[in-house]
Amino acid sequence: MSKQRLTIAVQKSGRLSKESIKLLSACGVKFNMHEARLMVHSTSHPIDLLRVRDDDIPGLVMDGVVDLGLVGENVLEEESLEREMRQQSNQFRSLRRLDFGHCRLSIALPTEQNFNGIADLEGLKIATTYPRLLERYLKDQGVNAKPVMLTGSVEVAPRAGLANAVCDLVSTGATLEANGLREQQVIFRSQVQLIQRAEALDPSKQQMMDKLLARIDGVQLAKE
Ligand code: ATP
Ligand code: ZN
Repeated sequence: MSKQRLTIAVQKSGRLSKESIKLLSACGVKFNMHEARLMVHSTSHPIDLLRVRDDDIPGLVMDGVVDLGLVGENVLEEESLEREMRQQSNQFRSLRRLDFGHCRLSIALPTEQNFNGIADLEGLKIATTYPRLLERYLKDQGVNAKPVMLTGSVEVAPRAGLANAVCDLVSTGATLEANGLREQQVIFRSQVQLIQRAEALDPSKQQMMDKLLARIDGVQLAKE
């Protein structure tokens, strides 16, 4: 990683990509985007983008491989809990919550299934991509249920007989409905955060950082 240039990890392609680039553009940071490239250099500022899967962003920041990251709190909190369990470093600085990537992590059951409260989850298998967030919630609620880890197609798990319920990201609920599932309990609300590595930046990078943050605040304010 560059000693002079601020490196920001952003999602390469997915729900956060467009808004992440849009935010930086609104701050006056210009890029010549090449779809295939992992690393993109700004043509206007000493800033580089590292374009990766969103799941990799918290770890890259926590390991100090990049200076900044734009990532959903769902992914951030899950990685933080996972690292805590493995006794790996999970330090970072939360700089700002940003006004995009809003979603919720919810428990959903087959529509025909009766549900009268969290206690009804006792003994069930729950498919999820967020086992640590789910475990924490179940523990807080004093319910014994078993997270079944799936990295994709979580919503088909009940029909496939892999689980009794799901714990998945929802924004409108249309995907759940299309799969015969009904949202029953929100366990985590999420939006995008701008995070920074724990270790201090070089003075020149810090200067760039301060400028960028002031512009982000300006952009956010203008949106309100
Ligand atoms: P990647 O290939 O980068 O791992 P992905 O498939 O995990 O991509 P996306 O579906 O693009 O991820 O979602 C990225 C993030 O967008 C989520 O982690 C979450 O923070 C946010 N998000 C907002 N709304 C939704 C939604 N309805 N479903 C899923 N994620 C959402
Ligand atoms: Zn992902």
